[in-house]
Amino acid sequence: MSRERLTTGTEVAPGIYRCNACAKQIDCQDEECKLPQCSACGSFSWRTTRLLSKKDS
Ligand SMILES: [Zn+2]
Repeated sequence: MSRERLTTGTEVAPGIYRCNACAKQIDCQDEECKLPQCSACGSFSWRTTRLLSKKDS
């Protein structure tokens, strides 16, 4: 997996993203999700933890 750095406001695919500063995880489920500012520490920096697979049922 790539370790891309993502910033607040970046449109990302559905998946789980983690704050680089405090490791808080967020779960994006919309097809087009914009990364927020971290609600825990205020960081703007995220990385991809796991992308959701499409229609995996
Ligand atoms: Zn944080």
